[in-house]
Amino acid sequence: MPHSLFDGYRRFRLERWPEARAEYETLAQAGQKPHTLIVACSDSRADPALIFDAKPGELFVVRNVANLVPPYEPDGGLHGVSAALEFGVKALEVSRIVVMGHARCGGVAAMLKGSPDSCPDFVQPWVEQAQPNARAAAEAAGEDRAESAAEEAVVRQSIDNLRTFPWIAEREADGRLALTGLHFGIGDGVLRVLGKGAKFKPLA
Ligand SMILES: [Zn+2]
Repeated sequence: MPHSLFDGYRRFRLERWPEARAEYETLAQAGQKPHTLIVACSDSRADPALIFDAKPGELFVVRNVANLVPPYEPDGGLHGVSAALEFGVKALEVSRIVVMGHARCGGVAAMLKGSPDSCPDFVQPWVEQAQPNARAAAEAAGEDRAESAAEEAVVRQSIDNLRTFPWIAEREADGRLALTGLHFGIGDGVLRVLGKGAKFKPLA
């Protein structure tokens, strides 16, 4: 393990643990009760816990390449995202699901330009699920906004796919669950929210 990880852990134990200890002990005994499930990208620059200044126990986080939610497919396959959704929604009973895309997303860039030659086995088929939407949005937006338009389209697709899960659609319909789309600007730190008219607007 690189020393920077151990150094970080030592800082955590020395500086953060003394004041956070009681909180962790309570969480360990009472169990987690996160209010929000977040589907975010694995990108090292878009960490939900940092962006939302969240404490341990608040967020149930699923991260994958390009913050994708595949459609509901109860076919006995090994569906990691769907397993996390099922646990978060049915067992933890979160009241919100957030899909957070981000600027300069390599996964979305792979949809537009093809995945890196070194990653044909899993990255390419994974990103292909949103490629048509990403490309259509990029073309409609024009060169200047192509990337961000594609990133927004992927968030919209993931939100649409969340609604193919019957137990998500049902809870959204009766008000137990809210779905939110977000886009985080890595370069400017601005969070934009998917609102009416399927447009993203900066959070006031
Ligand atoms: Zn990304």
